[in-house]
Amino acid sequence: MTVTSQLLELFRVDKQLRGLRSRLDQAERFLEAQQRQFTDITQRAGNISVQAKHLRASLKNDEGEVARLDAKVNQVREQMNSAATAKEYNAFLAELSNLKDAKTAVEEKVIEAMGRVEALEAEQATLSAQKSERERILAGAKAERDARESEIKQRLEELTTQRANLATMIPGDVLRTFEQLVVLRGDEAMSVVEVVDRRNYEYSCSACMMTLPMETVNSIARGQLTRCVSCGCVLFTEDLDIAAKKSPATTKISAPKSPKTAKAPKDKSAAKAGG
Ligand SMILES: [Zn+2]
Repeated sequence: MTVTSQLLELFRVDKQLRGLRSRLDQAERFLEAQQRQFTDITQRAGNISVQAKHLRASLKNDEGEVARLDAKVNQVREQMNSAATAKEYNAFLAELSNLKDAKTAVEEKVIEAMGRVEALEAEQATLSAQKSERERILAGAKAERDARESEIKQRLEELTTQRANLATMIPGDVLRTFEQLVVLRGDEAMSVVEVVDRRNYEYSCSACMMTLPMETVNSIARGQLTRCVSCGCVLFTEDLDIAAKKSPATTKISAPKSPKTAKAPKDKSAAKAGG
C-alpha cells in the first residue's frame, strides 16, 4: 500500500467525519439561534414588567393624591358655608379653585399613566405569546440536536478509531503536511487525476484543471506521493492504466528507440565523412 493510498483512505474517513459533524453543527447553530431569541424575548418581557410595576406604583400614588385633593375640596366647601366674612369666603373660593386645578392636573396624569399601563400590558401579552411559541421551537431544536448527536455518536466513534489506526501507518511528517493542506484546501486537499486524452497521455488535475506534466504522472505511476505543481493538492489515481505504469515515460522511452538507433549509423557515417 503506497503512502498516497493510505492518505486517500484517511482523507475519505476525514471527509465522512466532517460530513457527520457538519450535520450536528447545523443543529447546534439552529439551537443557539433559538436560545438567543428566547433570551432576548425573556429580557424584553422582564424590562416591560419592571416598567409596568413602577408605573402602577406611581399611578397608585397619583390616585391617592386625587382622593386627598377630593377630601380637601369637600373640607373647603364646608368651610365656605360657614365663612363669616366675604373676604374669608373669597379666600376659600380661591383655595377651592387652586385645589380643583391641582386635581385636574393629577387626574390628567392618571389617565395618561393608565393608557401607558394598558399599552405595556398589551405588549406583555404579545411577548408572553411569543415566548411560549419560542419555548416550543427551542424544545424542538434541543430534541433535534440530541437526536443528531446520538444518531452519529456510534459512527463518529467508529470513524475516529479508524482514523487513528490509519494515522499510525502514515509517516509523521507526511501526515502533518497533509493535515495542514486539509486545513487550507478542505475537500480539495486530494484530487484525482483526470484522463483528458489517454492516447496522447494527456492528464489533468481535477481540482485546478491544469494539465499535469509528464514527470508528475510518472511519479504517480511509480506510487510516489505527488502534489499538483499548480494547486498543491495531493494527486491520486484509481485509473488502472496509470497505476499499472502504462505511463507515457515507459511508452515514450521505448517508442522512439528504433528511429534513434536508425539515426545512429547516420551520425557515424557523417563523422567518418568529416574525418
Ligand atoms: Zn491542481
